[in-house]
Amino acid sequence: MADSERTSLIRPSRRLLLLAAAAAPLAAPAYAAPPSLLLTGPYVQGGFAFGRTAPRATILVDGVVEGAASADGAFFVGFDRDSPSRVTIAVRTPEGEASHVQSVAPRSFDIQRIDGLPPDQVTPQDPALLARIAAEAERKAAGFASRLDREDFVAGFILPVEGARITTRFGGQRILNGQPKTPHYGVDLAAPVGTPVRAPADGVVAFAETGLHFDGGLILIDHGQGLISAYLHLSRIDVARGEQVRRGQLIGAVGQEGRATGPHLCWRLKWHGRNLDPLLMVGAEAPAKL
Ligand SMILES: [Zn+2]
Repeated sequence: MADSERTSLIRPSRRLLLLAAAAAPLAAPAYAAPPSLLLTGPYVQGGFAFGRTAPRATILVDGVVEGAASADGAFFVGFDRDSPSRVTIAVRTPEGEASHVQSVAPRSFDIQRIDGLPPDQVTPQDPALLARIAAEAERKAAGFASRLDREDFVAGFILPVEGARITTRFGGQRILNGQPKTPHYGVDLAAPVGTPVRAPADGVVAFAETGLHFDGGLILIDHGQGLISAYLHLSRIDVARGEQVRRGQLIGAVGQEGRATGPHLCWRLKWHGRNLDPLLMVGAEAPAKL
């Protein structure tokens, strides 16, 4: 089995056990021990780790607190498209800490050239349009900042569009009308306008608006712990912000609104500002409760 797919159960070190005992000899019961830490991949750029540990343990990634495990001890850590090759994941409870240095395999991304886009979709100049784009970006950022206490990610995802053709994969460097732009942080699923788009997992709608300049109709869904999926260029939206959705539920329809050269769903996935490859979540599953 490849290292990038290995499941690893990490027991806390004896040194940490001793430190924990020395730090809290009276507060902790005699059997108290630092938390266990179980991780499964895909450990690749744009991938993630599912974790299991003690309920409500604090999660640290490279020393930075990134939330807490669920009441069942489930947690999620995403690796950015440009993730370094090593990421330290740690879990902390009052009884101690366990950590693991995870190697994250690099990926190579293609170059995507798209020409013939209207200039205001590549380098907008009009002050009124720039103000509108900025206001839309602020509202979207509020949606991406949603942090609901859920663990809908543990069962993985299904594809949001049935029978679609993958036209553009995650992570490609984009050159729009000859100008290098941010990478393509989504996977494009081509399907006719009006094709149903379904929630790939349970969640709560964190954003739902039509008519955005770049994105057209856009839905964001919070699947817990800051894992937010996004659906761009929709021709129709069937859900409202704050609505709870179930896996497989109709949420809207494929379109070509905004910056799109043909009808497709651009499907994105974000965790705490990191861009992930949503296809890696399809069929993935978190390990069972410890
Ligand atoms: Zn796209």
